[in-house]
Amino acid sequence: MEELPVELKGRVAERLEAQLERGVEGWLHRAGYERREGLEAGQQSGECQGCGTRKARLFWRNGHRRRQIVSQSGVVDIRLPRVVGACGESVAILFTLLRTYQRLWEDVIDQIDGGRG
Ligand SMILES: [Zn+2]
Repeated sequence: MEELPVELKGRVAERLEAQLERGVEGWLHRAGYERREGLEAGQQSGECQGCGTRKARLFWRNGHRRRQIVSQSGVVDIRLPRVVGACGESVAILFTLLRTYQRLWEDVIDQIDGGRG
């Protein structure tokens, strides 16, 4: 297993964080006006760890927390958006993106290899 350089990890972390931010914003924004609770495939969802509600219109952003993402190419630290429920407890978010982050690594590696020509 080959460790990626720190610089490359930084770029992966930046892109991953940007996508997570957009994902959470989009999810909470939609939840604000959609009363429907059904989720389409691939959409983000979450459950409050305090009261167990899945009603995203009762959730809001509350800063970030550090999270380590482990892949075959090494470990990268990212700032994961944090969401809390109306009762004040953290919401466990199912980040569909985290399941596909390997592809993101590969994209960034491809770009860098291409740049070297
Ligand atoms: Zn709750």
